[in-house]
Amino acid sequence: MNEYDSNRICDLTKSVGYQRTDQVSESDCYILNTCHIREKATDKVYHDIGRIKKEFKNKKKPIVLITGCVAQAEGNEMLKREKYIDGVIGPQSYHKIPSVLEKIEKSKNKINQTDFEVIDKFDKLNLIKNNNSSISSFLTIQEGCDKFCNFCVVPYTRGPEYSRSFKELIIEAKQLIDNGAKEITLLGQNVNAYNSEKNRLADLIFKLENLNGLERIRYTTSHPKDMTNEIYKAHEYSKKLMPILHLPVQSGSSKILKLMNRKHNVEEYLEIIKKLKKAKPNIEFSSDFIIGYPGETRNEFEQTINLMKKVKFINSYSFLYSARPGTPAYTLDCEKTQILKERLFEFQKVSDEIKKNYRNKLVNTVQNVLFENKLKDQSKYFGRDQYLNSVVVESKKNIAGKLVDIRIKSFNHNTLFGVILNNNQNDVAA
Ligand code: SAH
Ligand code: SF4
Repeated sequence: MNEYDSNRICDLTKSVGYQRTDQVSESDCYILNTCHIREKATDKVYHDIGRIKKEFKNKKKPIVLITGCVAQAEGNEMLKREKYIDGVIGPQSYHKIPSVLEKIEKSKNKINQTDFEVIDKFDKLNLIKNNNSSISSFLTIQEGCDKFCNFCVVPYTRGPEYSRSFKELIIEAKQLIDNGAKEITLLGQNVNAYNSEKNRLADLIFKLENLNGLERIRYTTSHPKDMTNEIYKAHEYSKKLMPILHLPVQSGSSKILKLMNRKHNVEEYLEIIKKLKKAKPNIEFSSDFIIGYPGETRNEFEQTINLMKKVKFINSYSFLYSARPGTPAYTLDCEKTQILKERLFEFQKVSDEIKKNYRNKLVNTVQNVLFENKLKDQSKYFGRDQYLNSVVVESKKNIAGKLVDIRIKSFNHNTLFGVILNNNQNDVAA
């Protein structure tokens, strides 16, 4: 979502004369778009500012804005702690960035914009064309969260659930397709909670299905509680919806899920997986896991490992629980850090092994890949298969924007390597 937001921020700043640059040391304005989900993210912001300060030591200081959820949560503190920052702007106030920039240019005052004005924001953003020209583009359809999991900052930093207007989303999707998008990923903190005048996520998927030029549809991130029969139907009938779902589970223990206030248990989660497999037999899953939530014993941890082994997620994002100020879990006691680190290591060993076995089975299979770009200084192209796996092939022809059948030859942890098939399904030496 921050990638989508960053692109929109760029579109906004154009109205007051700015443009994106790769020459960091030449910039007049530096916008750091931040994430607050885990503790390290905040440290990274201060680290980055240190780097900018060094870079501009003998030059005119650029305007420095901090946007995103760290700005929302710690804006005042940041302005006090780091004089180099000129403004902090929360996720619901991005539409104010042009006026903030003008004010800072004129008055040099410090500015804090962290109100929740989500409707105002999207009303203003809808008027500005989305200029993103990526073959694979994001489209935010929903923001915020009303679920209040006990560990999570999102309901406080992104505010309550808000769904954008169905009509505006179709207009923006068409703009993206006109700009060359072949794949659209619908985004939201709870994307499957999307609800705008009774239009739900499945309605949006079926509407996008009919847009010429669009080849692939994805959506992320879903909450198990908001899965509906209509979404299962979308997986069954949509030809453009990709057969992979990122469905965070957090823990394989129903006791821990209850302590987390996740509003679903393990059995319900497995039931969703079963229904999706029935609707789309070749579907695969990825997930998020929090290791070491307060109250997690060895036994509950092993249940998480068991769930991993049972579902065989093809990608998993696992992190140690990070206590976030202001959340209900903040004051709870955790197990010793060393024990938790060992658990994370043990979990990741299992999840890596599952991923490796899955990738091993892909060798010699043919996967349909949407190519996104040429790798720098090489005759290699980068793309993704239907399951979001990164694929790299050699090609003399420009295949960016093309869907190509690829025979997978080898892999490493992050990438599959393959060769292009010709029309007779023979491998082609590039
Ligand atoms: N809305 C999505 C997740 C959004 S947050 C859902 O409910 O599934 C993205 C991921 O960050 C979460 O799935 C969770 O695994 C992780 N996360 C959130 N807060 C965290 C915390 N305090 N410590 C560690 N991981 C956290
Ligand atoms: Fe955070 Fe997701 Fe829970 Fe909302 S549902 S509080 S975004 S983890």
